[in-house]
Amino acid sequence: MDIEEFRKAGYQAIDRICDYFYSLGDRNVLSKVEPGYLRKALPAQAPEEGENFDKIADDFKDLILPGITHWQHPSFFAYFPTASTPEGILGDLYASSVSNPGFNWICSPACTELEAVVMDWAAKLFGLSDAFLNTSGVGGGVLQTTASESGLTAVVAARARYLTTHPDVPLEKLVLYVTTQTHSLGNKAALILGLQYRTLDVTVDDNYGLRAKSFKQALEEDKAAGKHPFMLIATVGSTSIGAIDHVSEVGEVARQYDLWLHVDAAWAGVVLACPEYRGMCQLEGINTYAHSFCLNFHKWGLVNFDASAMWIRDRKLLTDALDITPTYLRTKEADEGTVIDYRNWQLPLGRRFRSLKVWFVLRSFGLNGFREHIRKGIALSKKFNALVESSPQFEIVTPPSITLTVFRLLPSTDSGVDKSDTEAVNQLNQMYQRRLHAADLFLTQTDVNKMFSIRLVIGSTRTEEEHIQRAFEIMVREIGPTIEEWKKRRETS
Ligand SMILES: *Cc1c(COP(=O)(O)O)cnc(C)c1O
Repeated sequence: MDIEEFRKAGYQAIDRICDYFYSLGDRNVLSKVEPGYLRKALPAQAPEEGENFDKIADDFKDLILPGITHWQHPSFFAYFPTASTPEGILGDLYASSVSNPGFNWICSPACTELEAVVMDWAAKLFGLSDAFLNTSGVGGGVLQTTASESGLTAVVAARARYLTTHPDVPLEKLVLYVTTQTHSLGNKAALILGLQYRTLDVTVDDNYGLRAKSFKQALEEDKAAGKHPFMLIATVGSTSIGAIDHVSEVGEVARQYDLWLHVDAAWAGVVLACPEYRGMCQLEGINTYAHSFCLNFHKWGLVNFDASAMWIRDRKLLTDALDITPTYLRTKEADEGTVIDYRNWQLPLGRRFRSLKVWFVLRSFGLNGFREHIRKGIALSKKFNALVESSPQFEIVTPPSITLTVFRLLPSTDSGVDKSDTEAVNQLNQMYQRRLHAADLFLTQTDVNKMFSIRLVIGSTRTEEEHIQRAFEIMVREIGPTIEEWKKRRETS
């Protein structure tokens, strides 16, 4: 493809993407294809001779789109939202045009410098302490791929920090602390790094947030057993139910025991843009105690996947753990200490120019536009909660958190379902979820104290009140048929 052909194909691509956006509301959220559908549709090997691009572009429409679950759909309420904004797309497009691996400042000075600036903009947007600003020269912000990678990177740095100050402690004695609410990234990091981890229980009385007392007790037990606690991963807005750890409390304990505190706010962290949620979301604890902090722009934060923002209070703790500089990566600027080389702040070497799309988004929306987007999602979520609460057929399982509602179907006993029979209610809710999916209401599930529960999360830019209303209508409509199906199944089994 030459440049003029690219111009033509590019215009066509933007046209088709716009048509796709216009069509979203008329599409199903869930893809209807069967496993293996694409292998059947595609040849077993790449073509010997290059093909015409029109045909390739048509195949995106005809073969790929049917296999897409439309996360950008206004009625997408599963998992967590994944942002896609025109500004973000354009950022990615321009970034692709100057594609470069950006690992050192010299690779493309703008890539490093823009990232350092927009991460400071973002730190200010979210009310983070000046200690986390790149201009501090001590702390700083970096864009990682995902919250999982931010978490893993933090664990690598925390491990190195501990082993530096305790060189005689064998690696297998180190313990990483997570809770039953922590995202699986904690266990995965421990698995990858060959570390022990301990999963702390959190209780309904504490709203599933970790408190100082139980944390301290676990630390004392483990120390008495000869183990070496070195890190806690706390969460603000857990994936399952949106639980929030008491960061100030557990942060103080972490400080007393000299543990690294990483705070994972992958989904919920963007609400810190709105001052009215900063107390609830533990900003003070984060600012006082966190060694590292992460939130994802790419979930509810208007920037296309991937853009996970990570801040570190002491960048040297990252670079001490991750700086390997063979001759071929040495530069004059780095030797002189005048620049950031972001390769030393992350696990891989090369990196995408992610800051461009963050820059586009923050400028085009403005800080107020960003906050408006967050507040709109929360207002819609309140409306949804009111609908669910208005029906005696539903139970809200855990207190609604930000824009996440966790509920289950709990019909009155005269429906034939014994409310106290957890297994029966679970079976009913599994059937209910399947029926919702068949009706194209895609909601994911979670387990709360053995209760099969259903999650609905709001956060797409396109979601309006009518979509919330429609989701609730489907929920109500499917109750009767679900109970009928459940009864029939009971009779035949
Ligand atoms: C979504 C989520 C993650 C994982 O995010 P990735 O960026 O996909 O790794 C981690 N923690 C929490 C609390 C999340 O909500």
